[in-house]
Amino acid sequence: MVLYIFNIPKLKAMNQTTPKTSVSFFGLICATIGHDYVVTRKVTNHINEYKCSHCGREVTDNHAGNIEVLTNNMREINSSVADFFQKRTNRLAVH
Ligand SMILES: [Zn+2]
Repeated sequence: MVLYIFNIPKLKAMNQTTPKTSVSFFGLICATIGHDYVVTRKVTNHINEYKCSHCGREVTDNHAGNIEVLTNNMREINSSVADFFQKRTNRLAVH
């Protein structure tokens, strides 16, 4: 019993210095109420990139209209799509 009481402050101190605690805490919120996505980049009128303000998870709309995880590959595709889309929009605006 005495040992048990002495161990409590040590455990608390360990938890406070572990950065993973807050990450898993937000991960728990996301798992419970869902991710809180904020638009980080507008690719086209229909495709955006999002980042969860809680856990930092990044996702994007794909061409099929579904949400998928934003990988480096997806980011590159979005960059070329955004480039293409912007050029096309500029050309349409000129005419
Ligand atoms: Zn999240």
